[in-house]
Amino acid sequence: MIIEPKVRGFICTTAHPEGCRQNVRRQIDYVKARPKTEGPKRVLVIGASTGYGLASRIAAAYSSDAATIGIIFDKPASGSRTASAGWYNTAAFEQFAHRDGLYAQTLNGDAFSAEMKAQTVELIKQDLGQVDLVVYSLAAPRRTMPDGTVVSSVLKTVGEPYTNKTIDLRSRQLSEITIEPASGEEIEDTIKVMGGGDWLDWMTLLHREGVLAPQAVTVAYSYIGPVLTHPMYLDGSIGQAKRDLYDTAKRITAGLPGVRGYISVNKALVTQSSAAIPIVPLYISLLYKVMKQKGLHEGCIEQMWRLLHDKLYSASPVLDPDGQLRLDDLEMLPEVQQEIERMWGTLDERGVEQLADIDGYWEDFYQMFGFAIPGVDYTADCDPTVEIESLA
Ligand code: NAD
Repeated sequence: MIIEPKVRGFICTTAHPEGCRQNVRRQIDYVKARPKTEGPKRVLVIGASTGYGLASRIAAAYSSDAATIGIIFDKPASGSRTASAGWYNTAAFEQFAHRDGLYAQTLNGDAFSAEMKAQTVELIKQDLGQVDLVVYSLAAPRRTMPDGTVVSSVLKTVGEPYTNKTIDLRSRQLSEITIEPASGEEIEDTIKVMGGGDWLDWMTLLHREGVLAPQAVTVAYSYIGPVLTHPMYLDGSIGQAKRDLYDTAKRITAGLPGVRGYISVNKALVTQSSAAIPIVPLYISLLYKVMKQKGLHEGCIEQMWRLLHDKLYSASPVLDPDGQLRLDDLEMLPEVQQEIERMWGTLDERGVEQLADIDGYWEDFYQMFGFAIPGVDYTADCDPTVEIESLA
C-alpha cells in the first residue's frame, strides 16, 4: 500500500517502514564514522524503540560492539494499519545488527510489569549472563501499577498557574496559554509514572538475580532547560518526577553494592513525548534555529554517542557538581540562551516564522515516523507488515 502521514494532535497515527529503516541506518552510519568507545559489551535498554533509547542502543551496539537487549512497547501492523514507528525502527535495527554480527534481541511488552521484568532476567541469564549497562529511557503517559490501577502523568505547574507564549504548530499561530497547577494527587501520579520507582524496581531485581556485572552502570534521562521553561518543566509536575529520578540514582549507587546510578541531562528535542508539552515546542523551534545557525545542533544519536564516548566511558565519568552527566552543555551555553531570550522577547512584533525554525520542527516530527526522509520514494507501494527478527 501507499503509506501517508496522518497527523492527529501530537502524534502521527501512521509510520513508514522504509523511512524508519533509513532513519536507523543514518544513525548507525553516524556512529560508524565516529571513533570507537571502550565501553559496555552487554547492554539492556528499557524504552529502546524511539528517541533517546533507540539512539542509546545504536550507540552502544556500533560504538562499543555491544550485545543489546531492548525492551519496547510497540504495535505490529494489522490489516490496513501500519505498525508503530518504534516497531519499524526495532525491526530495522535488529536486521542491521544481525547482519553486522551483533547480538540484538527485543522483548515487546509493558516495561512497568513484573512479567516483562521476569522475562528480561531470563533472557539475560540465557544469552548474556550479565549486563554492564542498563539504560532507562521510558517516557510514558500512564502506568499500570502492580495492583492493577492505572495512573497518569500530567504536564502542569506546581503551586501557581503560569502564563506564557505558546505556538500552535499546525496553524503556526502564536497565542498565550495558562497552565493550571497540578493537584497533589496528580503530582504523586506523575512521580509514579515518570519518577524513579520503576527504575529502582528494575535495578533491585536485576541485582538480586545476579545479572548485573561487577561495576555495572545504569543511566536514566532527564531535562533541566532554561528559566523560561522552568514553571512548565523543572518546577512543574514532570520536574517533581525528575527530582525523584535524580534521588533514585543516588539510592541505586548507595543501596546496590557495585552498581553506579547516573542521570544524564539531555538536550530538548522533538520526540513523541516533548511534542505534548505546552510552551516547550515554541522554545524548541527557537532553540533549533539558534543552534543550527551556530553549527551546534544535535539530535538523539549525536548526544548518545557523546554520552558513551565522552562522558560515561571516558577515563572516568564526566560529571557536573551535582553528579549528573550533561549532554545539554551546548543547549545551555550562554550565547545560545541569551539569543533565545532576546528572540522570545520580540516574538510578538516579529513574525514567528522569521524567528523560529518551525519547518525544522516539522521535519523532525515527520521523520520520527519515517516520513520526509530524503531518498525514500513515498509513492512506491510498500508492505506494512515487517517482522522483528528476534520476535519472529
Ligand atoms: P520517546 O517517546 O521517543 O521514547 C520513549 C520510549 O519508551 C519509547 O521507546 C516507548 O516505546 C517506550 N515506552 C513507553 N512506555 C513503555 C512501556 N510501558 N513499556 C515499554 N516501553 C515503553 O521519548 P524520549 O524523548 O526519547 O524520552 C526518553 C527519556 O528522555 C525520558 O525520560 C525523557 O524525559 C528524557 N528526555 C527527553 C528530552 C526531549 O526533549 N525529548 C530531553 C531530555 C530528556
